[in-house]
Amino acid sequence: MTTANQSRRSPSPTKRPALPPIGAEPLIHGDVATIRRWLLYYAQKLALPTSELLLLAITQDRQEYMLWTARRLNTMALGCYCYISTRVKGTQHRHLIFIEPELQPQSIEVTVAHELIHMADRVNGTPRRHRHHGYDSIAADEAALTGYDLDELRRLLHEESQRRDAIRRQRRPLRYMYACSHCGKTYPRARRYSQSVSCSSCDKHYNPVFKLALLPAVEPDDQAKMVSD
Ligand SMILES: [Zn+2]
Ligand SMILES: [Zn+2]
Repeated sequence: MTTANQSRRSPSPTKRPALPPIGAEPLIHGDVATIRRWLLYYAQKLALPTSELLLLAITQDRQEYMLWTARRLNTMALGCYCYISTRVKGTQHRHLIFIEPELQPQSIEVTVAHELIHMADRVNGTPRRHRHHGYDSIAADEAALTGYDLDELRRLLHEESQRRDAIRRQRRPLRYMYACSHCGKTYPRARRYSQSVSCSSCDKHYNPVFKLALLPAVEPDDQAKMVSD
């Protein structure tokens, strides 16, 4: 972890959600057959009303999901549920779900179930936040709903997170290496920092004394070693 200099960060412009159209059935962009199958199966088990399902849109495209929600999606997120309040007459809200496209089949199933639990919570007026992914009351509900045991779900989550991380690293090699001149700790990065950052080991708040310095370019052969460390 590094510590960013917050004061230099300019406020991001207020973007508005670009909501997808409402049709005669829930909108699905991606592997439609698979997603629809699990959506119908778990929506019925959760007794989600049709009126709410019509306000649901699911995509497996990260860029599209960020446009719909006008929010950043964590690059490590395997799934996401977002509730949007609208001021459109007749439609007070929308349900938006993202499902990572490169998940294994069993993980697609449990991720759809997981995000629908969040949606059901919203519909029932009892939204919950995660205390600890895989270990909280949402995880317990997910196990009860899918019939998989908690250990199996945790193993899946761990495995998929590792795969996602590996895919990310492959696509964005760590080209830059920063270092703290005080303690020597190094910080490999795929991109340059857009602002001054300091070493969080030396001071957990931004401190220009421990400012990180960009080291000379890393040779491609060294990158593999860096990643596996
Ligand atoms: Zn969740
Ligand atoms: Zn340091």
